[in-house]
Amino acid sequence: MIHPNYRLLVISTSTIYGNGYLEYIREEILDFLQTDELLFVPFARPSGISYDEYTNNVVTALQPFGIKVTGLHTYENPKEAICNAKAIFVGGGNTFLLLKTLYELGLIEAIRNTISEGVPYMGSSAGSNLTGLTIGTTNDMPIVYPPSFDALQFLPFNINPHYLDPDLNSTHKGETRETRINEFHKFNRQTVIGLREGSWLRVENGTIELKGDLTARIFKPNQSAIEVKSGILEESIYL
Ligand code: ASP
Repeated sequence: MIHPNYRLLVISTSTIYGNGYLEYIREEILDFLQTDELLFVPFARPSGISYDEYTNNVVTALQPFGIKVTGLHTYENPKEAICNAKAIFVGGGNTFLLLKTLYELGLIEAIRNTISEGVPYMGSSAGSNLTGLTIGTTNDMPIVYPPSFDALQFLPFNINPHYLDPDLNSTHKGETRETRINEFHKFNRQTVIGLREGSWLRVENGTIELKGDLTARIFKPNQSAIEVKSGILEESIYL
């Protein structure tokens, strides 16, 4: 059962091929946020960029469309900023670094409480990994050591963002994404939703809708993976 107050936009990727940052999903974001103020969490630092630089990218992408964006790092009291937020966007980058920083600043509970009051949460990639039970199905390297892999746990499953199908013509011998998720399921029970680039989940009124043109791949332990089409996901798909 999904908390009826949760309003989540769980985006596989911020950018698709040939588009600018957040460009392909801008209409959906504007429709989802229903506010003109967005608190941006820049802690995942893709490619190691600074918090200011990362926040500026979001400002450039959304401010022309009437959304005032501020970076969480600019607040003296980040916990208070979370509690007062009208909407929160957690950007992608390194998931381990993101989660470690949130734990270190003591913000996990503050985010959970704020979102349970109905404040919209938008995550892209690493920020989407955090909406699941754990970060155990991220594609990232553990470049730092968070105190726990437990994520925000808004959703009763795990996310694998940027889900990639095997290239049948490739001579590469490393694990496919599916192999890695099957390995995860030797030690973990929760469903994993492989969200391809250009797909996202919109969660509202206790329901989860898969959006975008592509199917998503659903992995459960001891079962063959299945493909689901865009639309409302029945509980039996993800539990
Ligand atoms: N590094 C990814 C991101 O763009 C997260 C992931 O692939 O797990 O945030």
